[in-house]
Amino acid sequence: MQDVRVRFAPSPTGFLHVGGARTALFNWLFARRHGGAFILRMENTDIERSSGEREDDMLEDLAWLGLDWDEGPRKDGDFGPYRQSERIEIYRQYAEQLLEEEKAYPCFCTPEELERKRKERIEEGRPPRYDGSCRNLTGKERAKRRADGRPESIRFIVTEGEKKRFSDIIRGEVEFPHHMVGDFVILRSNGLPTYNFAAAIDDALMKITHVVRGEEHLSNTLRQLMIYDALGFGWPAFAHIPLILGSDRTKLSKRKGAPNIRDFRERGYPREGIVNYLAFLGWSPPDRDEILSVEELVREFSLERVSESPSIFDVEKLNWVSAQHTRRGGAARYFEEALPYIPGELKDRYRQDELREIFDIVSENMPFFSRLMEETVFFRPGPPGMTGEAVQMLKRREGLFSAFADAFGSCGEWNTECIRGAIKEVGKRCGVKGKELYMPLRAALTGALHGPDLASIVRIRGKKDVIGTLKHAAGEAARM
Ligand code: GLU
Repeated sequence: MQDVRVRFAPSPTGFLHVGGARTALFNWLFARRHGGAFILRMENTDIERSSGEREDDMLEDLAWLGLDWDEGPRKDGDFGPYRQSERIEIYRQYAEQLLEEEKAYPCFCTPEELERKRKERIEEGRPPRYDGSCRNLTGKERAKRRADGRPESIRFIVTEGEKKRFSDIIRGEVEFPHHMVGDFVILRSNGLPTYNFAAAIDDALMKITHVVRGEEHLSNTLRQLMIYDALGFGWPAFAHIPLILGSDRTKLSKRKGAPNIRDFRERGYPREGIVNYLAFLGWSPPDRDEILSVEELVREFSLERVSESPSIFDVEKLNWVSAQHTRRGGAARYFEEALPYIPGELKDRYRQDELREIFDIVSENMPFFSRLMEETVFFRPGPPGMTGEAVQMLKRREGLFSAFADAFGSCGEWNTECIRGAIKEVGKRCGVKGKELYMPLRAALTGALHGPDLASIVRIRGKKDVIGTLKHAAGEAARM
């Protein structure tokens, strides 16, 4: 394969959403798989919606996902600038060239006129294409319209009776007749290029070999190929990746609040989980393993294995994938990352090694680390808040709690063995076993009937805290 150059070309109008992240990831994986270049291009000519701040947000999200770019903003290369707002002069020159070669013409129609004509055509049951009314204006007519101060945009001449045919890596043979579109604007009256014009020029000048993007852009390919041909550029290969649908089977969209990467990041999802899950939105490896590291994804990825049918964004599945990564990585990989989500009260109370142990115990199946806030509750020192069920467990068990306090008090070395021994001894002394022994102890210490391994909770919380909490429970029980 020739030296691969692919690009991700977002409009920086907000945080990176799931669809954009998946497109970026497929491009990145493809580039890394083939030792090629991953280029980032900011399509920021929509001045009302794009801003530098939003670009920063997007770059940060990409960087967090680990999708490093070889050329782009903050990373100069030989084909810059990489922001379309800094390439306006380039688009203007090419538009000029097309005007000179009579492949484009100035159009003086006002937005109101265009809208009226569009509606008329729709009412007549015809496709709402531009009718070409400015195509054949004479020099004099043009001068008159300019003198009248009408808006002047530039339209590309669509030649009739032809078609474009290309082989999409994912979708196979695609054919579009030219008459699907009317003469289209390439340069707006404000001097800014339209998406199709700018994207085609940039992809050609940046020597992009494979255009990998969302299926919603498939029909844009027709206009872009016309631009390539008119300017004498060779075509890149195309791969249009299928849509991502929400659980209601409609397209995920920013407007409907499509999940964005920043939210996942703030909830403390491990990035490997997100990347792994995103990779499987439309792609699958030849074998059935669903949990892959980033390196494995790079090794396995191919555009040929991207499915043609849409994929469904499913948070449950994401959580499952993510939890597998947490389990694999454990504290060694994730403790530092998870630390901000451990409540301050616990950080004040425990040493680092104890916090790591708590993390290991509670993170076993944890998809994202903000859950630590609630999952570490059993390790909070002092008498716990109680569920109704747990309160019931205190009733008439004053003696049992005092016995536990005594037995733990006489533990020599504070370790799991001694703790388990003490619990057994209390069972014998008070004539209770099984649930009747463990449940009240758990309720008294944690305020709940379920949770992580009880002996570990007792050990980590420490002798003083455990005895104090049990004495408190005995006092409560006495009052009931
Ligand atoms: N700026 C376009 C977008 O955000 C890029 C489409 C393309 O990759 O050509 O969808």
